[in-house]
Amino acid sequence: MRIILLGAPGAGKGTAAVKIAAKYGAAHISTGDLLRKNIKEGTELGKKAKEFVDNGHLVPDELVIALVKDSVGKIESFLFDGFPRTTEQAKAVDTFTAIDKVINLQIDEALLMSRITGRRICKDCAAVYHVDLLNGKDKCSLCGGKLCQRADDNEATVKSRLDVYKKQTAPLIDYYKQQNKLIDIDAGREAAAVFADVEKILG
Ligand code: ADP
Repeated sequence: MRIILLGAPGAGKGTAAVKIAAKYGAAHISTGDLLRKNIKEGTELGKKAKEFVDNGHLVPDELVIALVKDSVGKIESFLFDGFPRTTEQAKAVDTFTAIDKVINLQIDEALLMSRITGRRICKDCAAVYHVDLLNGKDKCSLCGGKLCQRADDNEATVKSRLDVYKKQTAPLIDYYKQQNKLIDIDAGREAAAVFADVEKILG
């Protein structure tokens, strides 16, 4: 399967992606995770990307497209999470692979700020949690790694990311509608209900 998960920051792309990857054996390719890894390791790409990520702006298309092409390599079954995010990136995808389905996680904007500012991620495996459901726990239940808040999950940066989403990423909804690949899911519900819908779509 070759799937794209589309949706605003905080819509639950990462949470759904981990479950889809586990159930269907597809490679989970998250540009956000890949960029954060490069930033943490201080690679050339990481140095170029850091300022954009920290400010909630998009990393330039050519860098992200090269990163994804490289990650896909010869992999046949994959799931893009957080990519493509611009029309330029979507056009690039069409030059190197054929996407089967685009799952659009739809959500009311009012829910996003608290979802994102309450988010905690495992620093080792990138699993995603929400502080309200952790009951004070600070370790990942999957790998035991320490849970942290992402540097860009603060209110000012989230505002900028939502703005960027509306201007640069939301137009992809029409792009994939025109290709007859778009399937909408109500992502304002709990993760299990969202995943049940994903399973119906993917079979
Ligand atoms: P979220 O979906 O919650 O915003 P991500 O982890 O997908 O989180 O992205 C975090 C940041 O990484 C983005 O704000 C942006 O700076 C950068 N980024 C991730 N994916 C892309 C992409 N496809 N194109 C450009 N920048 C990206």
